[in-house]
Amino acid sequence: MLDGIFEVIYVIGFVTGSVVRKLYVRGYDRTKFTDDRKNWLDKLLLVVVSLGFIAAPLVYLLTGWLDFADYELPMWAGWVGTVVFAGALLLLWRSHVDLGRNWSPMMEIREEHSLVTKGVYKYIRHPMYSAHFLWAIAQVLLLHNWIAGSAFLITSVPLYLFRIPVEERMMLDRFGEEYKLYINRSGRMFPRLWG
Ligand code: SAH
Repeated sequence: MLDGIFEVIYVIGFVTGSVVRKLYVRGYDRTKFTDDRKNWLDKLLLVVVSLGFIAAPLVYLLTGWLDFADYELPMWAGWVGTVVFAGALLLLWRSHVDLGRNWSPMMEIREEHSLVTKGVYKYIRHPMYSAHFLWAIAQVLLLHNWIAGSAFLITSVPLYLFRIPVEERMMLDRFGEEYKLYINRSGRMFPRLWG
């Protein structure tokens, strides 16, 4: 059962993140795509990722099945995790606001797609993926279990390694020179510190 302040904080963050996503997913129009690059691997990786950030934490929080893999962390690590989780949620929310109707869970481009390079997209090309990465770090610090804590971090790495190059190829094919210039002035998942 739920015990420990950091597990409660994790649940609050999880629910907040789900509400943010739900609010913006409502406007997702599935009918008008001109470029569709999703495939079975992309879908499989999404399922694997949801095991990492939904299934594993739920099993850990609601049953005792993973207790054998518990670890201890000092109190400050939990508070660092809380701050990181808050940052992840803030970034997730801002990315949804900035990307607006161009958002899609898969690799797709709409007829009236516009290239977003403003707001958080001015500094990074994949702020939602960065938000997920921060969430995954927070999960390690808030859920003190080798399996549930690290599950999102481990399951999301292949998704990004595979997805980002395909997504950027798709954006380059659609927006050409404009996207090339955007690549040159922005960071991939973290802001450029120089150049
Ligand atoms: N990778 C981005 C977006 C994730 S949503 C992020 O992490 O924030 C995935 C969809 O967003 C893709 O199918 C693509 O159509 C769209 N997309 C990605 N970058 C975009 C941009 N800069 N402007 C407009 N649409 C974008």
